[in-house]
Amino acid sequence: MDLTGQLAKLFKPAERPHPLEAELSIQEGLGRTQKDFDWIERNIPCQKACPAGTDIPAYLTAIAEDRFDDAYRINLRDNIFPGILGRVCSRPCESACRHGYEGLGDSVAICASKRSASDQKQPDPMLLDPLFPSTGKTIGIIGSGVAGLAAARNLIRLGHAVTIYEKHTEPGGMLNQGIPEFRLPRDLIQQEIEQITALGVDILCNTEIGKTIPLEHLFNKHDALIAAAGTLKPNLPDLPNAQLTGIRHGLDFLLEAHTTGTTVGEHVIIIGGGYTAMDCARTARRLGGTLIESNNGKLTIYYRRKKENIRVIPDELNELEHEFIPLECDATPLAYLETNGTLTGIRFQRTGTTETFEIPADTILLATGQTPDTEWQQAITDPRLFLAGDYATGATDLISAIGHAKKIAKDVDIFLMGKPRTETAIQVETTNPIGRTEAMDIVPRQFMPTLKLQERTLTTEVETGYPTATATSEAERCYRCNYKFEIEQDKCIKCDWCLKAKPHENCILMLKEITYNEEGKALEWEATERVREMNLIWIDSDACTRCGACVNACPVDAISLQKITLTEQPIIEETP
Ligand code: SF4
Ligand code: SF4
Ligand code: SF4
Repeated sequence: MDLTGQLAKLFKPAERPHPLEAELSIQEGLGRTQKDFDWIERNIPCQKACPAGTDIPAYLTAIAEDRFDDAYRINLRDNIFPGILGRVCSRPCESACRHGYEGLGDSVAICASKRSASDQKQPDPMLLDPLFPSTGKTIGIIGSGVAGLAAARNLIRLGHAVTIYEKHTEPGGMLNQGIPEFRLPRDLIQQEIEQITALGVDILCNTEIGKTIPLEHLFNKHDALIAAAGTLKPNLPDLPNAQLTGIRHGLDFLLEAHTTGTTVGEHVIIIGGGYTAMDCARTARRLGGTLIESNNGKLTIYYRRKKENIRVIPDELNELEHEFIPLECDATPLAYLETNGTLTGIRFQRTGTTETFEIPADTILLATGQTPDTEWQQAITDPRLFLAGDYATGATDLISAIGHAKKIAKDVDIFLMGKPRTETAIQVETTNPIGRTEAMDIVPRQFMPTLKLQERTLTTEVETGYPTATATSEAERCYRCNYKFEIEQDKCIKCDWCLKAKPHENCILMLKEITYNEEGKALEWEATERVREMNLIWIDSDACTRCGACVNACPVDAISLQKITLTEQPIIEETP
C-alpha cells in the first residue's frame, strides 16, 4: 500500500514534528560539546574500546576501497605501530565491535585488517608531517619500548627535540625481548622504529641511567623527562627450592631463545596464563626441532585459575591446540621438588581444594608477570619528571601502554608550552551514499591463514596475512558505525517505502514520540504500528547497519548521511 497521499494530508510540511533534541550540537563542521563526544562513544564502540582511540571505521573503509596506504596512514597517526599491532595487539576493539552483538554474527577482524594495511601498502617508510615548527625544548625519555617510542613520536611532531635512553643493545623493549619472532618479525619492528627515528628522534642504546649516565645529567640536559622503562622486575612465586637450576623467568628464556640461543630439558612446565606463558610454551616446543603432532607429554602449561579467566585472544588458545600443547587449569604451584640438589618436578594444589599432585620436570618457566622497578624514581619530586606506559600503570598490554604514552606526551607539551596547543573535536560532514549493501552483512569473518605444523620454526612467522581480495571483503563487513543516517522530518512525506526496504525489524520505526537526554541519547520512544498514531519515522542508530536500503528506497531523498569523525588538530589562534 502506498501511503504517500494519505500521510501528506495528515501532515502539512510546517506541522511535521521533529525529534525534541538533535543528537549532535551541529549539522556540519566542528562540534565540541559533550553531546558530540557522547555520540562517538555511543555509536563507534570499537574506537571507544581502543586505548589509542584508533579511527577504526575510517581505516576499514580505506581497505574496503583498496586504499591500503591511506589505511596504514590512519593507523600510523593513531596507534603509531600498525604492522606490529596488526599482529600482536590484544584487540579490545574486537570484543566491542557491533558486528559481534547477539544475532549479528562475528566481530570484524579489525586487527588482521590492520595487518593487511601494513602488508599491502607501498614498501617505503611512511613519515607523518610535523604539527608545529621547532619549539627549542628538549625531552629525554628513559626506555625505548612502545610507550617511550610512542611518546617520542608524538612529541617530535609537536616540535620538541627528543632523545631516548635505552639500556639494551637494541630499541623496542618488550617487542624484542618478550614476543617471539614467529609472531612478530624482527625486520618489521626495525622498520616501524625507523619511521620514528627518521623524524629526528635520537635513540642512545647501551645507556643505562644511573650507571652509564647519572640521572642529574638528564635533568640538566632536558626540559622534561619521561620514565617509560616498562616492567622488568619479575614477579616470582615464593616457593621452596626456588634456587634450583632449571627454574627460569619466562622473559629471560624468551630473550635468550631469540638472541644467544638456549635449550630446555626433557620435561618442561610453564606456569602462567598470559601471553608470556603461551609464547614460552610455543618457543620451547620449537627448540626440539620440527613440530610433530604430539609432544609426548614433555611440555604442559599450568594455570592456577579457570580457562575463562585467561586473558589472551582466542586465536592464541587455538594455536596451542594446533601445536599440541596441553593447558591444565586450576593448578596452583606449591613447591619445586629436588633430589640431591637437582630439580625433579613440581607439586601443585588443585585450586580451591586440598588435593595435591606432583609432576616431573627438569625445566620450569615462570610466566607469572612482572612489575616496574620504581625504587630509583620514588624520591624524585621534580615536576619535570613524567611517567608513561606500563612503568606508570603496571603491566598492561601494548595498546594500553601506547594510549597512556600518547596522553602523557600531550601533558608534557602543555607543561612545556604553558597551554594546550591541540584540541579534540568532532567533525561532522554531510556525505553521499557509502556503497555498503545488505549482502556485506552476511559475509562470514575471514580466517587468518597460517603455516602448516611441519613448516613452523623458531623464526618463520606462523600467520601469513590476508590476500588482497580477502582483506577487502573482510573490511566491507564493517558497518561503518561512523556514519549517521537520519530522516529529515521536513522532507519526509511519510510514505512507507523505507519501512518496506529495511533489513532489520527495528532499524526504522514509526513513532508516536521520542525523548532525548542532555547527552543527545534517545532515552525512550513510543513506537506504533498504526499509521494514524504515527508522528514521525525515525532511524535507530543502534539497530542500523548502514546498509543503505532505505536511502535507495526513499522517493524524495529525505534520508541524509553524515560522517562523524573524532579529530585532534592544532588550535589555530586568530590574529587580532
Ligand atoms: S562494525 Fe566496524 S565501525 Fe562498527 S564497531 Fe565493528 S569495526 Fe567498529
Ligand atoms: S541504512 Fe537504513 S535500511 Fe539499512 S540498516 Fe540503516 S536504517 Fe535500516
Ligand atoms: S524517509 Fe523517505 S521512504 Fe521513508 S517514509 Fe520518509 S519519504 Fe518515505
